Amino acid sequence: MRVIVTGGAGYIGSHTVRELARAGWDVVVIDNLVYGHRAAIIDPEVTLLEGSLDDQKILDQAFSKPVDVVVHFAAYAYVGESVTEPLKYYQNNLAAPLTLLARMKAENCTRFVFSSTCATYGIPEEMPIVETLAQNPINPYGQSKLMLEKVLQDCETAWGLKSVFLRYFNAAGSSSDGKIGEDHNPETHLIPLVIAAGMGKRKDIKIFGSDYPTPDGTCVRDYIHVEDLASAHSKAITYLSDGGDTIAVNLGTGIPVSVNELIQTFEKVTGLKVPVQYTDRRPGDPPELLADPSRAKEVLGWQAVNSDISNILESAYRWFSQPHGGKYESNSPQKTTDVEK
Ligand code: UDP
Repeated sequence: MRVIVTGGAGYIGSHTVRELARAGWDVVVIDNLVYGHRAAIIDPEVTLLEGSLDDQKILDQAFSKPVDVVVHFAAYAYVGESVTEPLKYYQNNLAAPLTLLARMKAENCTRFVFSSTCATYGIPEEMPIVETLAQNPINPYGQSKLMLEKVLQDCETAWGLKSVFLRYFNAAGSSSDGKIGEDHNPETHLIPLVIAAGMGKRKDIKIFGSDYPTPDGTCVRDYIHVEDLASAHSKAITYLSDGGDTIAVNLGTGIPVSVNELIQTFEKVTGLKVPVQYTDRRPGDPPELLADPSRAKEVLGWQAVNSDISNILESAYRWFSQPHGGKYESNSPQKTTDVEK
């Protein structure tokens, strides 16, 4: 059984590649290594095709044998950058996958697992978020993901493509054995920055807003361990192989964790002190994002098992406190080390 994983050298992609390789899949990764890391693919039997998913030569190699399913991660995921450079996001996240989809159609490959996001909901009217809520993204990143969901629905109507849209909440943590983890450049996510502040690698962590309508005034999020996300992809493949129809599924825990709570938990778990500075709200941050994960359990038989916030923080800290400091080796002297889902 052969699976193509686009963006398989990225953060969530690499954890999923590992899960699929362990399960005995013939895994072919397509990754241009702009944000991905060659070193994040640790299973020697996994094939890495370095290039773009809209490059016909790369697709020729990927489809040189029959492909059962495509798991699609490759995308840019910096929300702020998507606002200033929307065309970059629509080109990479929306246009490039169209070439891949056309090839899937030509090859009669009709199963697709898509890394979507809770950012497609925008500022939801209800909490927790169920999949049937209106989707009104508030930035080009979320728009580009929602638009691809629409394209995939149209492909189902036209030629029978079946997709699972996995709408991730806040991906976090690192592999339990510390072998792979999160390495973004630039890093904008809360947990790596809290760890860096705790380890004295940066002066402090800036808390974006303390006047939100939440219990302690700081933003509330739903953090989901990257290995739980990986297992959901495996279950989504099984769902499609069993004849499942196109469906959207939230991947979260439904457990609220505020920025303050997260920092306090980190201090408790590690014994480190994290210097904090309260600053203004970051534009575009919803006060609270929480998944209702019931559908994932019903439809995929999936639920989070590693996503207790202490466990997430311990695993992330393990990764960042290694001698490499949570950095993969560069792919080449010219390339920086960064990655996104
Ligand atoms: N956050 C913060 N300081 C930072 C980075 C993030 O206070 O330096 C807050 C941010 O406002 C949000 C939460 O931490 O409420 C998680 O942010 P992150 O960027 O990790 O993920 P997002 O929820 O934006 O996808």
